[in-house]
Amino acid sequence: MGSKKRAKPSRGKKRARPCADQALALEYVRAWAHPAPPPEPSTADAGNSFLPPQAARMARGGGGNVLFELHSHSKHSDGFLSPSALVERAHRNGVKVLALTDHDTMAGIPEAMSAARKFGMRIIPGVEISAVHSPRQIPGSGEPVHILAYYGMCGPSRFDELDSMLLNIRDGRFLRAKNMLAKLNTLKVPIKWEHVMKIAGEGVAPGRPHIARALVEAGYVDNVREAFNKYLGNDGPAYATGSEPFIETVVQMISRTGGISALAHPWSLKNPDAVIRSLKSAGLDAMEVYRSDGKVDGTPLVLHK
Ligand SMILES: [Zn+2]
Repeated sequence: MGSKKRAKPSRGKKRARPCADQALALEYVRAWAHPAPPPEPSTADAGNSFLPPQAARMARGGGGNVLFELHSHSKHSDGFLSPSALVERAHRNGVKVLALTDHDTMAGIPEAMSAARKFGMRIIPGVEISAVHSPRQIPGSGEPVHILAYYGMCGPSRFDELDSMLLNIRDGRFLRAKNMLAKLNTLKVPIKWEHVMKIAGEGVAPGRPHIARALVEAGYVDNVREAFNKYLGNDGPAYATGSEPFIETVVQMISRTGGISALAHPWSLKNPDAVIRSLKSAGLDAMEVYRSDGKVDGTPLVLHK
């Protein structure tokens, strides 16, 4: 989780003040994130008594700061915690609005939502969808791209459509993991399938972090980073693709099911300009700019085009 948001050094330039629209949007978000408290009848409120409690509270300047965490993984993909333990940890870190964005599954959302109720937190139902950027749309080729989808409180509309896409990707993850293990085997770094499955947990579609952890546990590498650098990275000798849909298909699916689409960790892309350009014309809504493992330096030129 990357819950610590740091301001960039200003380098002598003044930070632009939010415009009226941005300020209004922020107020709405604050009001949404802090559900209305029980009305407190007091003389100070007398002048605002015509306002609903939430608005009256905001009129008193009680919006407060809201800490959002918009990218998190639970045990349902490659995180370490169950959704409820994740929610509890986020709560301890002061997070008020948490998006659970497991890889290619929304299975953890119901548990996260019921855990969040205890702490007065809000959960944004989300998912991080594995896709591929292939300008000529050739199956099995192209650059892997992760696209975050965020939904309203009721989740996706046309859930079946989204779910069958996610199911297909998860099936592909099993095949892909098997291919990666076969490649590792030829590289004389044999890892057992059962070992990876045990790390992933029951019913969880395996991902590269699970294989990386197996490589660490088997003593072939010192840490997960080394496993990626040496074997599993996008250009690594043990890398394999799964059955990810094209980025355009994913963005359109998110929009059709009532979600907001956002490009995840653009700093890990080989061809960010080409990917962002294609995503933009497919209707991408947003882009991740900061996470604990990286950030976008400056504004990519392509955003202005
Ligand atoms: Zn990702």
